[in-house]
Amino acid sequence: VKHRAPVSSLRTVSRRAEAFAGEFDLISRLCARLPLSRRTLLGPGDDAAIIARGAGAQLVTIDSMVEGMHFDLRWGTPEQLGARALIVNLSDIAAMGGAPKACVVNLAIRPGLSPEFFERMYAGLGRAARVARVDVIGGNIARAEQLAITIALIGDAPAKPLRRDAARPGDGIFVTGTLGDAAVGWRILEGKLRARGAARTHLINRYLAPTARLAAGARLARIRPAPAAIDISDGLWQDLGHILKRSRVGAEIDPSAIPVSDAYRAVMRGDLSLALGGGEDYELLFCVRPKYGARRLAAMLGVPVARIGTIVKGREARFLGGGAPALAGWDQLRAGAP
Ligand SMILES: [Mg+2]
Repeated sequence: VKHRAPVSSLRTVSRRAEAFAGEFDLISRLCARLPLSRRTLLGPGDDAAIIARGAGAQLVTIDSMVEGMHFDLRWGTPEQLGARALIVNLSDIAAMGGAPKACVVNLAIRPGLSPEFFERMYAGLGRAARVARVDVIGGNIARAEQLAITIALIGDAPAKPLRRDAARPGDGIFVTGTLGDAAVGWRILEGKLRARGAARTHLINRYLAPTARLAAGARLARIRPAPAAIDISDGLWQDLGHILKRSRVGAEIDPSAIPVSDAYRAVMRGDLSLALGGGEDYELLFCVRPKYGARRLAAMLGVPVARIGTIVKGREARFLGGGAPALAGWDQLRAGAP
């Protein structure tokens, strides 16, 4: 297979084709460096890639990261950016209980970025792809005002995917890991919050280098009946809302049970607003029948699990004891979210 940039994308930059030709060559070279599994019959370089059919149903998802909206180049390394662009997509496959297989990448590139920048970005993307056993099977380049990385990802669905519409009254509501770290990290990078030492490092890393809960999601999909699940990308309260809406149920949440890290507590003290409303954690939120407890689920999934509430009849989420879910500064929080 000859690796080169698609002709169509070259045409879109015909004006400065010569200036950018080096970059196209670079990216096709970097694509060529990424390993491909046997399932990929034809990788980058032709009009389309060819992949062998999976055994069962397929999952397809797409996500974009746009400069100025989702990231700031001053905050992290190009490697972190490339990895993160894939990980936010992997998280959606994890939330379905699936196994990611192949992806295509669209880069919207702006002037002022060096070939070395893209080389490093692809090194990070490639590393994350290798860890998750994902083939990067194609790509496209367009010019734009802002840098944007869009990745479409294909995965194998489990026998019973983890759907948002599967929550039933009586189900326990659980989350993996801790919440709010990424939102605090983002505000530290922005200069809106302060932290020192290990806490600072932890919080910033949770934002810049998140983990997709792929293994936990796959194990969760073995439970019967299949749990409802979603990954927490927009914040606990908002993502819980998606499950409630799709499942036509309500929720009772115990705020004291929301899992937060020591680092979060060091910065935020008792303020749970970012644990409830801050996004980008990429933890899993899921609902299972009452016979499953947090300890058993943690052992099954291989990650920390906390029970934060119960699915109830109705349509809304409320705090245990009937408190209103409205948070102080909620609107500002949402408006200022990354
Ligand atoms: Mg999602």
